[in-house]
Amino acid sequence: MSKLIIISAPSGTGKTSLIKSLIKELDSINLKLGISFTTRIKRKNEIQGESYFFIKHRKFLEMLEKNEFLENAEVFGNLYGTSKSWVKIQISKGFQVLLELDWQGALQVKSTYPDCLTIFVLPPSYPELEERLSKRGQDSKTIINKRLSKAKKEVLEGKNFDFVIVNDVFEKALEDLKTIVQNKNNLSQERRDLVKHTLQVLLKK
Ligand code: 5GP
Repeated sequence: MSKLIIISAPSGTGKTSLIKSLIKELDSINLKLGISFTTRIKRKNEIQGESYFFIKHRKFLEMLEKNEFLENAEVFGNLYGTSKSWVKIQISKGFQVLLELDWQGALQVKSTYPDCLTIFVLPPSYPELEERLSKRGQDSKTIINKRLSKAKKEVLEGKNFDFVIVNDVFEKALEDLKTIVQNKNNLSQERRDLVKHTLQVLLKK
């Protein structure tokens, strides 16, 4: 298993639920989920220091200035970053680190740690993604439309990741994730065909 695993996906693809289940199922005391710093406002169900370290814009810029981030990105107008020292310490202690980053962050980390494993999760289709974003009840119609148009650009970046999977059926996507994370193995022919077909459909739009 890689020391550093990065999972990215367009918003609403189900990445966070997949990661939670992956951690639960692998039941590895050795695997740590990274906690990022962000300037985004805390949502109702989020906990400071658990979901994120919520910090002021000024503090983020200070950390950036001091070169404290392994990677950082602006997503929907908010700043996000991963602490360089935190990742280094966990790896030196023998932990495996799992980071949930946007595509820009994932590619930045890949250039620093070429041995890290990068995985991109695709939605099965744009109408399905729109439905998931609406059901989540978190965003207004305007924000959902923004997330959808951003998703179309993000999908193009999937080709730069080590592995691509499709979250069509949760359990199947989780199995795919486990196969990749545990064995660095390729997926079954059926699941690979699905990735190929889904990419063709998503990139046509
Ligand atoms: P949200 O604000 O909805 O939790 O996350 C928005 C996006 O930011 C998601 O794509 C998430 O993966 C990404 N993200 C969260 N933390 C980080 C980080 O530390 N660095 C980068 N590059 N992206 C992050």
